[in-house]
Amino acid sequence: MSLPIMFPAATVLVPGRMIVSMFLLWVVSIAAHAVPALDVSGDEIRLTDFPVGYLVDNSQSLSYETVRKETFEAANNTATLGTGASVTWHRIALHNSGAEEKALYLHMPMAYQVRAIEIYEERSQGVVGQAAVDLNDASDNPLMHRGTIIYPFSVPAGETTVLFVRSQLYSHQWFAAEIYDDKHSRKALVGGHLDIALLVGMMMALVFYNGLLYFATSKKENLLYSLYLISGVVWIALSYGLIAKAFNMYGDAVFILNLSVFTMPIFLVLFMMVIFETREFYVTEHRILKVLLALLVAGFGYGFFDIEGALIPASSLAALMMVVTFSVSLSILRKGHPLAKFFLVGHSFFVVFNGLAVLFYKGLIEPNYLNSHGVGVGIVLEAITLAFIISYRIKVLEDIRSQQDELKRQAATDPLTQLYNRRYFMAEGGYLVEQARATGEQVSVITMDIDHFKLVNDTYGHHVGDLVLKDVADIFQKFSRDRDLVARFGGEEFMILLPGAGHAEAEGCAERIRQGVEKHVVQAGDNVRIRVTVSLGVAQVSSATESVEDAARRADKALYEAKAGGRNRVCSAA
Ligand code: GH3
Ligand code: MG
Ligand code: MG
Repeated sequence: MSLPIMFPAATVLVPGRMIVSMFLLWVVSIAAHAVPALDVSGDEIRLTDFPVGYLVDNSQSLSYETVRKETFEAANNTATLGTGASVTWHRIALHNSGAEEKALYLHMPMAYQVRAIEIYEERSQGVVGQAAVDLNDASDNPLMHRGTIIYPFSVPAGETTVLFVRSQLYSHQWFAAEIYDDKHSRKALVGGHLDIALLVGMMMALVFYNGLLYFATSKKENLLYSLYLISGVVWIALSYGLIAKAFNMYGDAVFILNLSVFTMPIFLVLFMMVIFETREFYVTEHRILKVLLALLVAGFGYGFFDIEGALIPASSLAALMMVVTFSVSLSILRKGHPLAKFFLVGHSFFVVFNGLAVLFYKGLIEPNYLNSHGVGVGIVLEAITLAFIISYRIKVLEDIRSQQDELKRQAATDPLTQLYNRRYFMAEGGYLVEQARATGEQVSVITMDIDHFKLVNDTYGHHVGDLVLKDVADIFQKFSRDRDLVARFGGEEFMILLPGAGHAEAEGCAERIRQGVEKHVVQAGDNVRIRVTVSLGVAQVSSATESVEDAARRADKALYEAKAGGRNRVCSAA
């Protein structure tokens, strides 16, 4: 490091005015050469954090000869300058105070983000080396190493080499320079991007899983979530140099993939609309989301033709999008949606990390690992929460379905005996009869009524009557086959439909039931034992056209005959 003017030890002896003028001279020269030369005489050179000079060329037409005489502002070797700067120049001065010439390498690891780079190597006021990389044509350029531009240069003993780097950007200015000796240059190229590969891998797994879920369930949210993730993966792979590294691709052909900056929020907004069912239940929020969606789609459409132009307001649009989606989910939470709190947690990750990233892209904060990776970290954390929301929603839908199943079951059964009720018997019986007809099977029905049941109620009370009903129902169930349809028709009347049973078989079944009831003792309290009998009527459903109702009516007639004939017996319809 060499200061332009050294204060001599004798300064204190010179008159005050002279001190002042020397000080002014010093200040002026500091301003003109704000950034001192870096010393590169050491054994190992590995410079990753150092000051550089920068100059914004608004005219975009300054030549190296002009620029080298200009004043450079101080900046860090990794910097984002927002969208304001279109062409920038950086100046790096390196002084070798040692006795041996130094062979060094300038690394530009963010080079894949820019449009073109020019490098001028200057010594003793003259150009000794020069290089240019057009990113549209960089795959074969010997200076391009999978996204990193590497320029070899030297600093002879006792001399100073100044590097001027002109970078032309697409929409956001990125600059990152590192200086290495041969050994560290090699090391810097190995590895890296492991974190990004991990993020991308996780997201790809989620994409795959949700794609499968979509094909299995046809649920829109799975598809939208997959598309959201794919946009995120593209954006992360692009911004963090994975595409450059993996495919050795740069320039306009790749830059258009920045459209994912629009598709990502588009799919997120659509996802919100679906999971919160905003169209049906949150009309105001739905309208707001629709306006945001329109803006994003307009940005996407514009970007299709002019992606550089579209990206200039992109970070402002992203900020707007975050404010809107955050407020909308907050409002939905207030209205009591059970998924809103999870969405808010995930979205908070997204908003916080993306907020950092927006500040970083606008050049408002110093770059560091977290804010330069903010979008990636935010997307992944949100993606994990959204995955949780999707599975939670599946659980909610499953709960609703089992509730519906339970309601259906309740609507079809009699609460006292747990047998089917009349309505279900008629519907299901009609279906079973048709099925039997199609296969040429016989079907029969048995109708039953408890004998003198009124007497049981009158003697022991309604409660004991209920116990008897339950016991009798159990006996019907016990003596019927699994495929039989056993129902309580109301009161103390029951009906069984026996698919695959002809008249004789049904009669046999009825008789077994009659005997079963006759033998059974209902234990109603410690000293109360009750025996009841049943009368039964049997009818075979005529194989031609008879309905279950008609067959049941004939069975009822037979039952009436059984009652008239003295009860506790089985009678068959003609
Ligand atoms: P029959 O031999 O002629 O069938 O004589 P019955 O006494 O059984 O005559 P009926 O069919 O007229 O009487 C039915 C009685 O069943 C009337 C009613 O009090 C009783 N009952 C109907 N539903 C219930 C119920 O859910 N629980 C109880 N405990 N009794 C019921
Ligand atoms: Mg009755
Ligand atoms: Mg009765």
